[in-house]
Amino acid sequence: MQICVLTLFPELFEPFWNHGIIGRAVLSQKIDPWTIHIRDHAKGRHRVTDDRPYGGGCGMVMKPEPLTAALKEAKKRIPKAVTLLLSPQGKRLDQRLAESLATEKELILVCGRYEGVDERFGDRYVDGEISIGDFVLTGGELGAMVLIDAVVRLLPNVLGNQDSAGDDTFSNGLVEHAQYTRPPTFEQSSVPDVLLSGNHREIDRWRRETALIRTVLKRPDLLEDRRMTSEERAILIKWRRDLDELIG
Ligand code: SAM
Repeated sequence: MQICVLTLFPELFEPFWNHGIIGRAVLSQKIDPWTIHIRDHAKGRHRVTDDRPYGGGCGMVMKPEPLTAALKEAKKRIPKAVTLLLSPQGKRLDQRLAESLATEKELILVCGRYEGVDERFGDRYVDGEISIGDFVLTGGELGAMVLIDAVVRLLPNVLGNQDSAGDDTFSNGLVEHAQYTRPPTFEQSSVPDVLLSGNHREIDRWRRETALIRTVLKRPDLLEDRRMTSEERAILIKWRRDLDELIG
């Protein structure tokens, strides 16, 4: 996947491209990410990229011409890319959206700053706006990194074990089952016996059970539209019975 980020702070992305799973994906050429400095495409001695808002008010607005010139530069290399603007007004990023973006071959991400970008740039050149949540950041760079991170780990063979995205929270509409590692006992608290049993059928069953119960406890909203399997219904009925017995 080719990923170009238009930003006023390209240096923020250097550590991001060079570490962890994203760094590995770059080295193994699963992704080819780069930045374009919007200021390099601004005209004049001072290379101004922002100006006061028409109609008054506080803050500055990113001018449309440098953004357009930077986008045209990106499109020389990836002409068919989908152009997405990071914006708190955009569609909220979730796992489904990340999965759908992971099918793209080319992405251009535009990072706003100040009060945002001139509306005409958005109208003419942006295919979609993406928000990483209902809060306002100072710039789109962290949003772009969040989006890239969520998308890239879903690309084939990017995660070491291909299965490791499969059980992740949200991937099947539930939160993930509980996880434990060594030591077997930590501050008098032991790992559930089943995980040490070597019985993989029982371990899988336990994982499905804890995933469901943890979803009820932590994110009941995820279950609102879920069509439960008969196994899931049985797990919840048994859990309710166990609770009733406990309460007495
Ligand atoms: N005045 C804008 C508004 O109220 O919609 C907010 C501008 S914000 C201070 C500056 C830039 O940060 C935005 O143009 C956008 O690129 C980025 N940004 C802020 N919050 C974001 C969010 N929740 N998701 C994605 N990008 C965000």
